[in-house]
Amino acid sequence: MSRVLIIGAGGVSQVVVHKCAQLPEVFTDIILASRTEAKCKAIAEQVKKNYDRTIATAEIDADSVPELVQLINKVKPFLVINVALPYQDLTIMDACLECGVHYLDTANYEPIDTAKFEYKWQWEYQDKFKAAGLMALLGSGFDPGATNVFTAYLAKHFFDEIQTLDIIDVNGGDHGYPFATNFNPEINIREVSAECRHWENNEFVTTPPMSLKQSFSCPEDVGTYNIYRMYHEELESLTKHYPTLQRAQFWMSFGESYLKHLEVLNNVGMTGIEAIEFEGHKIVPIQFLKALLPEPSLLGPRTHGKTCIGCVVTGLKDGKQRTVYIYNVKDHQDCYKEVGSQAISYTTGVPAMIGAKMMLEGKWMQAGVWNMEQMDPDPFMEDLNLYGLPWHVIDEPNFDLL
Ligand code: NDP
Repeated sequence: MSRVLIIGAGGVSQVVVHKCAQLPEVFTDIILASRTEAKCKAIAEQVKKNYDRTIATAEIDADSVPELVQLINKVKPFLVINVALPYQDLTIMDACLECGVHYLDTANYEPIDTAKFEYKWQWEYQDKFKAAGLMALLGSGFDPGATNVFTAYLAKHFFDEIQTLDIIDVNGGDHGYPFATNFNPEINIREVSAECRHWENNEFVTTPPMSLKQSFSCPEDVGTYNIYRMYHEELESLTKHYPTLQRAQFWMSFGESYLKHLEVLNNVGMTGIEAIEFEGHKIVPIQFLKALLPEPSLLGPRTHGKTCIGCVVTGLKDGKQRTVYIYNVKDHQDCYKEVGSQAISYTTGVPAMIGAKMMLEGKWMQAGVWNMEQMDPDPFMEDLNLYGLPWHVIDEPNFDLL
């Protein structure tokens, strides 16, 4: 039996549940639990209709370790797939340890009262997971996730030593709203408003948010977009695990309308994470803003265009300098037709399913807490091609990056 418990029932979960349901020989039993059980039931209904598979559902407050322990002990899964929010990472890891169950997530822990995401807290679980003979796989989405595996794949097959890394995340999609986020608005806005950090000469260098931009032309006619340098969590693990990296940067595309709205919202305090008094109630501005914005899980039918996410790596091969670009292009409407979601949820949910599959099949199974690049990239790369995220390599691409 390979039973998985999936926690969270938002945009990414919708994809993970569908993709797991498509592989009954690997995922024999799927249980979906979240804060709002009605959302689990809605996903389960679609899966029943599409694949005639029954998904059991449950209500859970994943901030509560005792509640989680009770549910995990009842369900007895092999693995918990955490696609709730980064705030729940540690409680779910604690519950997995208590119940003797493996763990996987797509985003690193972030304390709710400090907009600061780093691996420190989760890496501290290394000894506990090792001692318990359990595995925790961190960041099995696209970025982090597939981008870590792309880097590991290039380092293994194309280079003797990697020296620079530029991760480029372009969303050429349009949902037609003046302002909406493609994944959880609170997490997205916290990430985008954070100071930029990039790796240079053996240390992280801090610069103001969105202070460096350049134009990037994607392959396969996806288009030309402005990409902005920002901090992203995989830079922390990749620079640790590839100490030959002299520079590592992360770039993301943003449209003018998104940036204009974000600037105004920042200026008026709507992105604040500290509670304020309002007519006798305490409200957190960013949580109130989230309630006003469109749900990312409902953007699927109206999002058109493509994503293009990949890594440009330079380094040495046989004593010579080399540059290689590896990327995936995904069409929003193709994703919607397959699983009812836009491509941002899809490109996150498919690697989460594949990471779980690697663990269930024993291809990636070792006690401890691991980032994706620490595993053998080859079986994961094969599965990206098989399950909806085919990738391509351009040797010596003809673009110059900052
Ligand atoms: P959503 O906001 O759409 O979904 C989050 C889900 O978690 C909701 O169903 C929510 O419940 C549930 N949840 C929140 N708090 C709790 C709780 N205390 N107990 C139980 N359930 C809870 O987010 P997304 O699907 O867009 O994102 C999911 C995760 O994926 C996030 O951690 C995000 O950072 C990560 N991500 C990773 C990417 C990558 O490439 N690595 C890219 C995009 C996202 P309710 O419906 O009741 O609010």
